[in-house]
Amino acid sequence: MIDDPREALLAVLPDGTPLERRLAAARPEIARVLAAAVSGERIDTEQLLLLLDVSGADLTALIATADQVRHTDVGDVVTYVVNRNVNFTNVCFVGCQFCAFKRQRWESDAYTHDNDAILAKIDEAIGRGATEICMQGGINPQMPATTYRDLLVAIRAAYPQLHIHAFSPMEILYGSRRMNMPFGPYLEMLRDAGLGSIPGTAAEILDDDVREILSHKKVDTAAWVEIITTAHRLGIPSTSTLMYGHVETTAHIAAHLALLRRIQDETGGFTEFVPLRFIHDNTVLYRRGLVEPRPRGVADLRLYAASRLFLRGSIDNLQTSWVKLGHELAAFSLQAGCNDFGGTLMEESISREAGADAGEYTSAEEIVAWSASVGRPARQRTTLYADPRPRPSPAPELVAHA
Ligand code: SF4
Repeated sequence: MIDDPREALLAVLPDGTPLERRLAAARPEIARVLAAAVSGERIDTEQLLLLLDVSGADLTALIATADQVRHTDVGDVVTYVVNRNVNFTNVCFVGCQFCAFKRQRWESDAYTHDNDAILAKIDEAIGRGATEICMQGGINPQMPATTYRDLLVAIRAAYPQLHIHAFSPMEILYGSRRMNMPFGPYLEMLRDAGLGSIPGTAAEILDDDVREILSHKKVDTAAWVEIITTAHRLGIPSTSTLMYGHVETTAHIAAHLALLRRIQDETGGFTEFVPLRFIHDNTVLYRRGLVEPRPRGVADLRLYAASRLFLRGSIDNLQTSWVKLGHELAAFSLQAGCNDFGGTLMEESISREAGADAGEYTSAEEIVAWSASVGRPARQRTTLYADPRPRPSPAPELVAHA
């Protein structure tokens, strides 16, 4: 993994210089867009394209603006969720070119956990304070058609309070086909079995030409949108994601963000936006020479900052990824528009297999410390951004007057 030098990052981060001075130093066309964003005007896709390409004083002004807008819109508290990832199978036939996690079922390290093994992992997570279980896996044709529903039923029976965040749109597509059900009834069935929300993964870049290169067997853009909007309408919220840093152009990123914003305008069902840097090391895309490694650092901060401004008034929560960026850069991104540090995870394997080097688990104490390193308080949240602490009982006199 190559990183930009630390000094290069510190040079673009806010340093107490008033925003007006930062804007004055930027080119007029950039300063105009940034000033419009500060005043609450929506920026359009053309303006976003400008922002995705800035450098020098323009970039410093962009990041300072995103930091101020984040402060105005969601405050200074950094949120995080105590959760555990469970990747219940790594067997998958889809063959995404960016994925180093999948295995063929005959490979020696292929696995499929049964319900008892999954429940044991959840039990351990709850012992460590988890409020959420995040489950995704490979697309494994050996699993029975009812696997996803049965898993939810088993978890719900054992842990009625636990929030189950599970099954990407690719898994929903596959599961609904296996059960020969349209998306709506299938999602309703999963919701009624205990599904609390779904990861907005399998999005990568929502452009079918790009998807053809990345994974031609994967859920296409239209189906992804249909699954996500159907879920939202059924009261199943989701995250929204972007995988960047592979074969895409800035125009693809801008169109992807515009699509997410349109969906949010329509449904309001996205809880957050999570940009996910592509980890290239152990992937087919890299081995075949289809991608050039890009250094971690300044480009990530630029993308976060531009996303904060473009999604203003639409998606409030911008989540950094310590898994993809490493902890220090993730902490720096809190000064470039991010307000959420993601989850503790406890068992992160998808990015690790691709070559990520940040480990599998970050404790709540570490998240608090990383937030403090950039001068920010941190607070645990639920999956849906509520305070997980039990509410104090009302004082007797309040009860008397209720
Ligand atoms: S990203 Fe998911 S669907 Fe694609 S190959 Fe990997 S496990 Fe399979």
